[in-house]
Amino acid sequence: MREQRMDVIVAGGNVVLRDQVCAVDIGIKDGKIAIIAPRLAGEAGKVIDASRKYVIAGVVDAHVHLNEPGLGEWEGFVTGTASLAAGGCTTFIDMPLNGVPPTVNLASLELKLEAERKSRSRIDFAIWGGLVPDDVGELKALAQAGVAGFKAFMSSPGDRGEDAFRNVDDKTLFEGMHKIASLGHVLALHAESESIVSKLTADKLSAGEVTMRDYLDSRPPEAEIEAVKLALDMATRTGCKLHFVHISTSEAVDLISEAKRSGQDVTVETCPHYLAFTDEDVIRIGASAKCSPPIRTDKEREALWQRLANGDIDFVASDHSPCPPSMKQSDNGNYFEAWGGILGAQSTLELIVTEGWQKRGIPLPVLSRVMSAAPAERFGLRHRKGAIEVGLDADLAIVDLEASYVLTAEHLKYRHPHSAYEDFEFGCRIEATLLRGEFVYDRKTANGGLDADHRTGGLRLWPEPSTSRMG
Ligand code: ZN
Repeated sequence: MREQRMDVIVAGGNVVLRDQVCAVDIGIKDGKIAIIAPRLAGEAGKVIDASRKYVIAGVVDAHVHLNEPGLGEWEGFVTGTASLAAGGCTTFIDMPLNGVPPTVNLASLELKLEAERKSRSRIDFAIWGGLVPDDVGELKALAQAGVAGFKAFMSSPGDRGEDAFRNVDDKTLFEGMHKIASLGHVLALHAESESIVSKLTADKLSAGEVTMRDYLDSRPPEAEIEAVKLALDMATRTGCKLHFVHISTSEAVDLISEAKRSGQDVTVETCPHYLAFTDEDVIRIGASAKCSPPIRTDKEREALWQRLANGDIDFVASDHSPCPPSMKQSDNGNYFEAWGGILGAQSTLELIVTEGWQKRGIPLPVLSRVMSAAPAERFGLRHRKGAIEVGLDADLAIVDLEASYVLTAEHLKYRHPHSAYEDFEFGCRIEATLLRGEFVYDRKTANGGLDADHRTGGLRLWPEPSTSRMG
């Protein structure tokens, strides 16, 4: 094995493996990790010096909204995936809403793929399909076309217009679960009770109570908890595999953990912003930190970290939900009108390492698992993505854990460089990102780091239908 000449060696780094951090080199051949061993340097066409740095598996972000086709002015494949690459991400899964049309049938999937072929994703990707009222009949064709899973909203997504992505009624949800179970796929749910949030929102608006605190109060923890209970119950009746996106409360996580213990095939994600901020921060930051479900209290934030550390939260995903800055302005102080969604895709790894490892002492292998291996496993990509292991794609983030910096707009590669993380102090910095052994980001180069010969862009991945449930 060692006689084989490597194309690239990443040398001298502290490498975050499944259970430990080791000072080893990584040999890359044909885009795959071919060997992991000490002192390989000198046996390759190219050596990348990672000394004094940490090498972590490229992030697999299962929850990203890019707005092409239709709304590329908000964010497209070029800028969205440049930001992801700058954040150490090498694979993402594109959500079925916030482009026009939403990805809810074969025709709209083809438009999504055509938009990508024109713009080019810098990193590898897979595509979500949507479950909306009256489209249960489209699910089979979408599954055959290779979507990673299906996403539905239990509360209104706040989309407008005739191409709006609509939330499911209970009948659609039940029928959809039956169908998705028969296809062996996973249903991802935005879990907030529509009856609770629509009533509280109407009450607030009619009383003229429109501050950020009013917005937070209009989407209480109970709305999430009730929706999770209902969905878990329907899933036991239908045998549908579930994934709860952006869960914001520890009580919902605990309900999901209980369901896992009773044998249900269910996973849960939270987002960096629920782990970074509190309700007080949201009021201080303003509309940039508005999302739904909203960010909770300091106590809730710490409870989420505890559940992440002990394995009850399966993984984190950015829920990158971009928009032009004008949509984040609240004329007349009405925060109900501002766009709900956080621009954060570029900050996931730096945030999780700063807050998880540096501030809370959670081991790096645990953090790498929630950022990469677990989402890859859940969505059928683990045969090539999610960890630093021989045989997998050489997707690597090289991180300086001794560099700290305060994020400003000029660091951001989004179509519109604004974010809830502006002014946030990170305790580490991503130096470079490799996709299948080639640079897709290098902090030190002016062009953002594409290799001169990197012309092909990211690959569309075809997930393998998941056969086993996660532990
Ligand atoms: Zn989302």
